[in-house]
Amino acid sequence: MKIKEINVNRFIAKSNIEGIDFVVNSYVGCPNGCMFCYATFMKNLSSHDEEWGEFLDVKITGYKLRSVSVRNKTYLMSSTTDCYNKYEEQYMITRNILSQLVKFDFNLIIATRNKLILRDLDLIKEFKNVKVVMSINTLDDNLRECLEKESPISERLDTLKELKKNKIYTILNISPFLPYLTDYKKIIEKTKDFACEYHFEFLKLRDDARRKVLKFINDNYKDLYLDYAKIYLLNDNTYFDNLKIEIEEYCLNNNIKYKI
Ligand code: SF4
Repeated sequence: MKIKEINVNRFIAKSNIEGIDFVVNSYVGCPNGCMFCYATFMKNLSSHDEEWGEFLDVKITGYKLRSVSVRNKTYLMSSTTDCYNKYEEQYMITRNILSQLVKFDFNLIIATRNKLILRDLDLIKEFKNVKVVMSINTLDDNLRECLEKESPISERLDTLKELKKNKIYTILNISPFLPYLTDYKKIIEKTKDFACEYHFEFLKLRDDARRKVLKFINDNYKDLYLDYAKIYLLNDNTYFDNLKIEIEEYCLNNNIKYKI
């Protein structure tokens, strides 16, 4: 892992994500190194030669926030990294940013796949409107380990449980939803006592991620390869169109708050 400290002037950027006004990213790169990651474009933007998941730029800034845009604004922390990756334990960049943001009144969404977020529970509890999003797409840790480097599923679920116990609004993000592999009903059954809401993000693949995931499917789930090829090489969306209808029906029938 190549770690570099970089000096930056700011850590907040305008967002083009639907429903999000600003994004806050404390790092460039992500040690979680998920095979399906949608943020690998940051590798080229930051001129890194290393593989995604093999570099981390730590954003050092002396910049102190005096004011931020707050009225009805939603901030997402983070969109192209995991702000609670394991190096955060040492660098505390995310904690430092949160301690500056806490005095402002806006909607904050913190997205992570790591239990380190619990270290900052004291601060997170001080925000008036905060939601925490934890992502998983399987309960099978063997499958998870093939696709992501960090953080066992049980740890993520325990983290969500602890957050809920502390009255934090919790969102379980079933993401990315793997065609024919993600058993969303099983996930909901196991987590419905401590997830306030579910989000569903279907697997999208581009460039290198498409090559890697299709190879992984071909090597490990040969029977599914043609189905994946239909979706990701022939752009046939029928599977997801039908799945969307099925999920909506399931959530409505079971009184589950959801977003697809
Ligand atoms: S945790 Fe998110 S940003 Fe990090 S590698 Fe995985 S998908 Fe990409």
